[in-house]
Amino acid sequence: MVKISFLGSCREIGRSGILIESKSGVKCLLDYGIGFNNEERLPLEIDFKNLKALALTHSHIDHSGALPFIYKKFKIPFFTNPISLVIVDVLIRDMIKISNYPYPYGFRELDKLRENAYFLSNKNRHRIDDKFFITFFDAGHIPGSVSILIEVDNKRIFYSGDINTQNTNLINPANYIDVPQLDALIIESTYALREHPPRKLLEEKFVEKVTEVIEHGGKVLIPAFGVARSQEALLILEKYNYNGKIFMDGLARKISNIYLEYPEYLRDITSFKKALKKTQFISKKKDRMHVKKSNGVIISPSGMLKGGAAIDYIEAILTDPVSAIYLVGYQVEGSPGRGLIDNGIFEFKESRKRKNIFYKFQIEAKCDYDYFDFSSHADSLHLYDYIENLEFQNKSNNDIFCIHGDNKSTTTFASELVKRGYSSVAPEIGEVYKI
Ligand SMILES: [Zn+2]
Ligand SMILES: [Zn+2]
Repeated sequence: MVKISFLGSCREIGRSGILIESKSGVKCLLDYGIGFNNEERLPLEIDFKNLKALALTHSHIDHSGALPFIYKKFKIPFFTNPISLVIVDVLIRDMIKISNYPYPYGFRELDKLRENAYFLSNKNRHRIDDKFFITFFDAGHIPGSVSILIEVDNKRIFYSGDINTQNTNLINPANYIDVPQLDALIIESTYALREHPPRKLLEEKFVEKVTEVIEHGGKVLIPAFGVARSQEALLILEKYNYNGKIFMDGLARKISNIYLEYPEYLRDITSFKKALKKTQFISKKKDRMHVKKSNGVIISPSGMLKGGAAIDYIEAILTDPVSAIYLVGYQVEGSPGRGLIDNGIFEFKESRKRKNIFYKFQIEAKCDYDYFDFSSHADSLHLYDYIENLEFQNKSNNDIFCIHGDNKSTTTFASELVKRGYSSVAPEIGEVYKI
């Protein structure tokens, strides 16, 4: 019997962590991220005795943020790839530096994580222990993202991680054609209940609206997550030959420079380079003042307006009737971005004594605002397709675990799969399943 323990991202998004244990008690941990909603930010900590390996699907901190914690006690190989390692380092360093939350690890453990990194290329089967193998497959979610196949005691478990099976401008879709027959699948459920609007139409509408604002002398703030989404927004503008000014600020700038160093993870490095050539990188306060008076597009984190450099621009945009804010990612309930989209009011509070930063905003938007979901997750149609395209050992007896989605998405997805003849559940945190 192989044991699968679910340590987080159960009926929620955040703090992903899955522990696989062989018959003889050898363990491998897949992802160890942080959550944002509650005080409990780390995945469940259980008995990690005999932990032999740690593996990461991708750099987003809901999957990677708590990885250094493992290196407080263990010195084990950390399976990842070069681009994910560099970005994980940037994101966690940043998180430790700016967060008020007392994470039970710091730079020392982060350094140890880096020192123990072991690079795996996709589709390369690697032995962790006796009858225990790991293989990465391209997940199409962000540059460097993978799905993980674990083969242990002759059972095959496939963990999708975050997946996208459709083309985006930044990267190629998931590639899972060589995944062998499975005994169990652990799948994300972020968009299990929703369908994305047709991508092409969305892109066209987005560029049309941006161009209109710019032609009327306004500015467009595009608050976007620094990892992947900012670069995707930039590539969409490039694709439709937008020729106004573009500014990029904050983490988006840093990550773009990293992407340039790892062209093999991008779909089209030439377009990316071309787009970046037209982009002005902004990092200083005085340059931001200049940008605020300018007429152009500003791409800047954070994606849900929960902080980041976007906050420095927001007042100038919100109070300007000819300007616009176009959000390009999913807005979680309760986030400032969601408040803006739903009520037309931007509310935000932040105080960071150390950096002398105090913000308190409650501003009714006079500018135009809209939401374009350039998602990097498979939607419901594509999730079902994905499952249909996988092969299971014995269809009536396989297990599909639905995680990484809210309560409704994960449970409805699981019961829908049961109706389609699969055996499926939405595990709760701390549950252990034997296969
Ligand atoms: Zn992700
Ligand atoms: Zn995620």
